[in-house]
Amino acid sequence: MGKSIEAAVLRQSGKPYVIERVILDAPQEHEALVRIEACGICHMDIDGPSLCSLPAVFGHEGVGIVEAIGAKASVNVGDRVILGYGSCNRCPSCMQGHPFYCDKSWEVTFGGRRLDGSPTIRDNSDSPLHAAFFQQSSFATHAIVPDHCLVAMPADVPAEVGASITCGVMTGAGAILNVLDVKAGETVLIVGAGAVGLGAIMTARKAGAGAILVADVRDGRLEMARELGATATFNPRMGAMHEWVMAQTSRGVGKLLETSGNAAAFEDAIASLRTGGHMAYAILPSPMEEYTLKPMPLFEKAARFEALSFGNSVPHDLYPKMLEWWQAGEFPVDRLISTFSFSDINQAMEHTRTGDVIKAVLLMEATDAE
Ligand SMILES: [Zn+2]
Ligand SMILES: [Zn+2]
Repeated sequence: MGKSIEAAVLRQSGKPYVIERVILDAPQEHEALVRIEACGICHMDIDGPSLCSLPAVFGHEGVGIVEAIGAKASVNVGDRVILGYGSCNRCPSCMQGHPFYCDKSWEVTFGGRRLDGSPTIRDNSDSPLHAAFFQQSSFATHAIVPDHCLVAMPADVPAEVGASITCGVMTGAGAILNVLDVKAGETVLIVGAGAVGLGAIMTARKAGAGAILVADVRDGRLEMARELGATATFNPRMGAMHEWVMAQTSRGVGKLLETSGNAAAFEDAIASLRTGGHMAYAILPSPMEEYTLKPMPLFEKAARFEALSFGNSVPHDLYPKMLEWWQAGEFPVDRLISTFSFSDINQAMEHTRTGDVIKAVLLMEATDAE
């Protein structure tokens, strides 16, 4: 028996979302049905139509309360949870505790179905929609989520704070802790001050980095970066970033996080590395831009280039850590948040696209419709 819910459906690229009454499937054995309290908006939702077929229900930064469970689910009805990214929970990487390297990563994220091929959402005329986006599709009042993707969330954390740490901020935090392994006193360059970059800045400060260099083409974002811990900032509209980095460091940086997804910034970033430097690449590249990855500059510097998946983070480890830091006042992620009601999803998407909000979070109203 399915459940009648409301979901924001995108039927055609470039057209507005329409909130439709749709049917959400009942949870399978290892799934939970979660009533969504809040869901963040991210550029991967905006790029959704180029990654996933339409009509679709996007949304992958959900927080909510478990309302129903399958027979073997590892969570309980009433649990408050943050939804993690999808993984198969079966492949060797998942079994080794590295779900970010899941063999089925692309399929569970953008496949539009459960891994067994079944749809989770049907529309009013009983046609399946492309859903299970990141195994959640949480631009909706309710979502079906595999139990292994659910992380407990304390009752006293506001829903929008929980939603804001899930994807971009976790990616930035994971890049600093798990990949670049930034230590006290070290220098790190962070390119791009969106949710990923700002999450990385807060984490680098928490890790005691000596110098946190930040570049972004938006002066407002650089101001926010300084407030959150950047020690020096640069706007690449003023010139070549690598020249600024060389002036700051004399030899280039050993640890660099690229989060801008911009082709020109990419080459400038490689030129900013010192010999033996490590560049982490954390963001979906813009599908509209041509990249030229020239091996010579990397070879000359014996540099390490590493593409990341969710900052190589495990939500069960990193969500509780970030929330503890937030509660201790050491991770002011609330500074990034602007909330919108679910019915204003189109405005929230537009503000995200233009960049005049950093982390838009939709707040869903509780409905009791069956
Ligand atoms: Zn995201
Ligand atoms: Zn897997």
